[in-house]
Amino acid sequence: MSLALIAYWLITIVLFGALFVLARNMKMKLWARVMIGFGLGGGMGFVFGGGAEGCAEAAVCIPASTQFIGEAFVRLIRMLIVPLIFLTLSAGVIAMGDPKKLGSLGGRTILLYFGTTILAASIGLIFGTIFRPGDGIDLTNVSTDAVDAVQGRMAEADAAGGLIDRFIAIIPENPIDALASTDVLAIIFWAVIFGVGILAAGDKGKPVAAVIESGSEAVLKVTHFVMEVAPYGVYALMAWVISTQGLDILINLGKLAIALYLACLLHMFITYGSIIKFIVRLPVIRFFGGIVDAQAVAFSTDSSNATLPVTISNVSENLGVKKSVAASVLPLGATINMDGTSIYLGIVALFASQALGIALTPADYAMVAITATLASIGAAGIPSAGLLLAATVLSVFGVTTEQSVLIVALIFPFDRLLDMMRTVTNVTGDAAVAVTVAKWEGALDEEVFKAKPVA
Ligand code: ASP
Repeated sequence: MSLALIAYWLITIVLFGALFVLARNMKMKLWARVMIGFGLGGGMGFVFGGGAEGCAEAAVCIPASTQFIGEAFVRLIRMLIVPLIFLTLSAGVIAMGDPKKLGSLGGRTILLYFGTTILAASIGLIFGTIFRPGDGIDLTNVSTDAVDAVQGRMAEADAAGGLIDRFIAIIPENPIDALASTDVLAIIFWAVIFGVGILAAGDKGKPVAAVIESGSEAVLKVTHFVMEVAPYGVYALMAWVISTQGLDILINLGKLAIALYLACLLHMFITYGSIIKFIVRLPVIRFFGGIVDAQAVAFSTDSSNATLPVTISNVSENLGVKKSVAASVLPLGATINMDGTSIYLGIVALFASQALGIALTPADYAMVAITATLASIGAAGIPSAGLLLAATVLSVFGVTTEQSVLIVALIFPFDRLLDMMRTVTNVTGDAAVAVTVAKWEGALDEEVFKAKPVA
């Protein structure tokens, strides 16, 4: 065992001890501890992972030795997804008491999801036009490994079937299978219908209603236990990501990365900020302060789905959104609302057009915006889902399959750092829509929203 490895572990143990003391004795808020874990993990990954180049040159990647802690944390939150969606969503429908309310809730939610995503795609196009990330890109030496990997992943995605197939697959043939395979949309479908059935059953439905309501409370408690582990999990994930990816890639795909990060930040602060300020009419800073945990988890896991339990808990407890609304709006958002992905697809489209020297007409721009929006809706809330959809978007302006494979393969090895930012944006968008819909439905406790201390 090398000295550096021992040092890494000793420092990690001391830092974990300090995080524990901050929680136990100093009663520091969870989000602050998560941010500390995030910063320390990133810093340790940088220092012990060989600096800007990451572990690429190192014989052993030291920060990878704590990766299992991050994986354990991700497993813990994934463990919550199925029971949490099913129980809190059914309980939410029961709590609404009137199935008609679901219609207005669903309609408003989908409208907002769609509207913000179209806007996101347009922002992506604007940033891609301003930054011109594809200028001077040489596609001749894309690594063949990456090309093979991308071709394999694309073939898998094709096998998943067309749009209509995927649409009817929302209806589970067997709800138990849907639960067992974490099929989020099918679980949503079943949970809503089952909740409506319980309401319709009147007195006879009351025992099941009580079981579901108490079950959902219990799962939320388990979510709290798991979130206590977040500072350590996020530390380990960040150390691993920063060390294995290195920061060189940000320079490598420089303009693409900068354009994406800036566009996402702009969308979050301007689009969501304005929604919160002008429609919800509440302090924007409290909104962002309330979802820091979810953002940190999104950034370090690359997955809206895996972040979902944390998002639900943050939005209902820190922002005062009624659980019934949070539990219905957010799981849907984690699956269909991906503004970061849509921004990204817009930028990648321009990246490709510039790298391949294809001039886009105004009609092409419009088509790219529409397909980027639709593709982001179809993207699963899992790591790298967005990148593989790029081919669909590129095909609208005449990029051949071979060319898109090259473009995607060029980005593929670096996609992790890009995915981190788009996932944060995706999750933030879900939260902004949940707050807005809650406001419209009279299901927002503004006292809770305002009371959350930012510092
Ligand atoms: N990783 C993203 C998410 O889970 C999806 C994407 O790849 O764009 O939200």
